[in-house]
Amino acid sequence: MTAAILDGTALARSRRAALIAQVGEFTERHGTAPCLAAVLAGDDPASHAYVASKAKASGRVGIRSETFHLPADVPAAEYLALIDTLNRRPDVHGILPQLPLPPQISAEAVFARVDPAKDVDGLTPVNMGRLTLGRPGLVPCTPLGIMALIDAAGVSPAGAEAVMVGRSNIVGKPTALLLLARHATVTLCHSRTRDLLAHTGRADILVSAVGSPHLIRAHMVKPGAVVIDVGLSRVDGRIVGDVDFDTVREVAGAITPMPGGTGPMTIAMLLENTLDAARRQLEPVPA
Ligand code: NAP
Repeated sequence: MTAAILDGTALARSRRAALIAQVGEFTERHGTAPCLAAVLAGDDPASHAYVASKAKASGRVGIRSETFHLPADVPAAEYLALIDTLNRRPDVHGILPQLPLPPQISAEAVFARVDPAKDVDGLTPVNMGRLTLGRPGLVPCTPLGIMALIDAAGVSPAGAEAVMVGRSNIVGKPTALLLLARHATVTLCHSRTRDLLAHTGRADILVSAVGSPHLIRAHMVKPGAVVIDVGLSRVDGRIVGDVDFDTVREVAGAITPMPGGTGPMTIAMLLENTLDAARRQLEPVPA
């Protein structure tokens, strides 16, 4: 079997195309475009590149963006004061604290401070709590993109064995919760998992978010499984995923490439979350 390729670039393009019309309608209705404010502390080139590509993608669908560059040694109080200002500004609908943060600033403190209504990363305790309780809220972008890719594979999670490798707050845990909400039987694996192969080998849906090049090899994959690669490592200047794409594609039913799978979907979902946040702020549903 050779797997179908789940082309995240193409799927993200079609989601963005649909978004252009929705953002246009929102802007016409409210006389203001949805606005995403990114906060970037320090000089990490990868973070600068991510923020620049998010700003460019926003502009292409009609979302306004602002980027706040702070020095690497910005005091935590100053960073948090900027978050407070953005929380108060009615013309800013989404706040994106770019990770990783410099060591003097705690991500926990930052996400405790972001207004949950503007939390387009879905990482505040309130939105994480809503996700856990199965209530509507803003959901982390990469997990949303993963679910869209699984849907694109035409496989229903209901009743399926789903194995999530990696248990981070940003990818693993929320993805496991989304799969559970869609009635999959979910196993969450991590670095202390004793026998990874025993779990991955029975997965109908296998998602890997570890950051370990080619951790997932063909013998670890159930024939016909949907395999979603989130992990991203640089090896000899090349981007390499957690999944050994060339061999796993001979076993899987559907597989994401790396790059060109989950990455573009993450950005598309960020744009959708920004519009969602703006709607929640300006078009509140009556209780
Ligand atoms: P993270 O916080 O470092 O989490 C990595 C997870 O992998 C941890 O839960 C860790 O277990 C687990 N792990 C480590 N070694 C393992 C092993 N040998 N077997 C099984 N599990 C193992 O990372 P993250 O933020 O979730 O990101 C994961 C990867 O996805 C990174 O490469 C990142 O760059 C990439 N990423 C990609 C996108 C995208 O859009 N494509 C978005 C976000 C992240 P413990 O909890 O026990 O330590």
